[in-house]
Amino acid sequence: MTARVGLIGYPVGHSISPRFQQAAFDALGIDARYEAWELAPDELAGFVDGLRGEETLGANVTSPYKEAAPRYMDRLHETARFVGAINTIVSRDGALEGFNTDVPGFQKALAAAGFDPEGSEAVIWGAGGAARAVAWALVWRKAGALTIINRTAVRAGRLRHDLSAPASGVRLRSCGSDDPAALEALAACDLVVQCTPVGLRGSETEGALPFPVEALPSRAMVVDLVANPVETRLVQAAKARGHAALGGLPMLVHQGAAAFELWTQQTPPLAVMFAAAEAAMAAEME
Ligand code: NAP
Repeated sequence: MTARVGLIGYPVGHSISPRFQQAAFDALGIDARYEAWELAPDELAGFVDGLRGEETLGANVTSPYKEAAPRYMDRLHETARFVGAINTIVSRDGALEGFNTDVPGFQKALAAAGFDPEGSEAVIWGAGGAARAVAWALVWRKAGALTIINRTAVRAGRLRHDLSAPASGVRLRSCGSDDPAALEALAACDLVVQCTPVGLRGSETEGALPFPVEALPSRAMVVDLVANPVETRLVQAAKARGHAALGGLPMLVHQGAAAFELWTQQTPPLAVMFAAAEAAMAAEME
């Protein structure tokens, strides 16, 4: 019986997860098919319930369902409980468990890029599911200060509030992206992590800059979680100004590899996954 696993989101057509996950299953000779499951909001609950079947390994969850999906789980892994968002569902013995592998995925990508967040002034641009994972990842890596900036200020405030107990040693602030305090935070940061879909290929913001790069001090590292294109306008503009800058692809593969390990309990073939992800992105560029 071919096992079933896939990506839940809306939209999901742009995602390269099916390409590099399928490559991993094939490389290890696991009989599984990774699909793209694009769901309208009213389809989410029923579809997730249907993942309990023994032929299903689980799913990945992407925008905009990371914060909605936990309520349909039978259990939440500790990290997912803290973060309040999941990107991975494991289906085992008829029960669903929610995980957040964006947290270790982001930590691994940042470490590979040579940035240690301990004591740093960090800005998180966005306050959705990915921003929540990045916020906890930075708190657990002992960032000195976190400013959460979002189009909808109240949502940034909610994330700051949720962080206030676990991040008691971290200076926390939040504001709306049109607040003058946003530019002040950018001007003082060591790290800014762009956690909105702004710049995503095929979206109405393709080619747009989420914030003015010239506001950043030269020491600031720029991370854009948008993985498609590999180099967003933000990453290009940051590099052109001499900043260290990282796109979303390394985190995407690392979070996917952690999910693969949870579904299969086998060591993920990381090199195969990176090669497949890079080939998928190169094919999109043609
Ligand atoms: P989400 O839960 O839907 O949150 C979206 C966030 O982006 C919210 O803060 C939202 O602000 C903001 N936003 C949306 N459209 C915007 C616009 N046009 N202008 C300004 N802000 C806007 O999504 P998510 O799951 O956090 O994902 C966010 C992005 O990160 C996606 O592009 C996703 O692909 C990427 N991501 C990448 C990785 C990776 O491994 N590389 C992992 C996770 C996520 P409001 O609150 O005002 O609506």
